Amino acid sequence: MEYPGNLFVVAAPSGAGKSSLVKALLELDARLAVSISHTSRAPRGQEQHGREYWFITPDEFHAMAARGEFFEWAEVHGNLYGTSRAGIEARLQHGEDVVLEIDFQGALQIKQLFPYAVLIFILPPSWDELRLRLARRGDTEPEVIAKRMNNARIEVAQAQNFDFVVVNAVFDTAVFDLKAIVHAQRLKYAAQRRNRSAVFQALDLP
Ligand code: 5GP
Repeated sequence: MEYPGNLFVVAAPSGAGKSSLVKALLELDARLAVSISHTSRAPRGQEQHGREYWFITPDEFHAMAARGEFFEWAEVHGNLYGTSRAGIEARLQHGEDVVLEIDFQGALQIKQLFPYAVLIFILPPSWDELRLRLARRGDTEPEVIAKRMNNARIEVAQAQNFDFVVVNAVFDTAVFDLKAIVHAQRLKYAAQRRNRSAVFQALDLP
């Protein structure tokens, strides 16, 4: 499937800073929209239905999956998460750029469907730093941290299947790196042909 909009997919192990980085990127770039996923997990803290996620029951989730309403879905940490077609198809068709903040399993499914999707993996600078960040987030239960660290090793091993890697050592540098990836994608021939069609026509470019 090929749509005029660019599709960026960002994955990372928990604690690498993915959500904060994507939030900063969206604030800097009005042309980017984030897709709101569906999940079977319960809302946490201040989370709102339709803002962080569409919160649905496992039965509703499976029914949506059976109807083919997801581009991808996966079980992550015991809960179901999915990217609905309705959420992104129309935007991509209209030439808008969309960011998916999903896990690596979903990212690899998206790459199968949309080979032109840009897969970005966020790495922590070290295992020690990741452990510190998880501890600072309030996940102070040693078993919870140990479980996330084990998952992180599985997740980080997938970075080699991604198009780009951003190391989140210094936050602002990582945001700059993300911006650079988005910018470079928009300068690709096909994207420029869409966005600068008058120039391309004037220069008789195919
Ligand atoms: P959390 O429950 O902490 O918000 O998210 C847990 C993990 O699920 C994160 O890695 C998050 O990126 C991932 N996730 C969120 N939405 C989706 C989705 O639609 N599809 C997939 N595959 N993973 C998702």
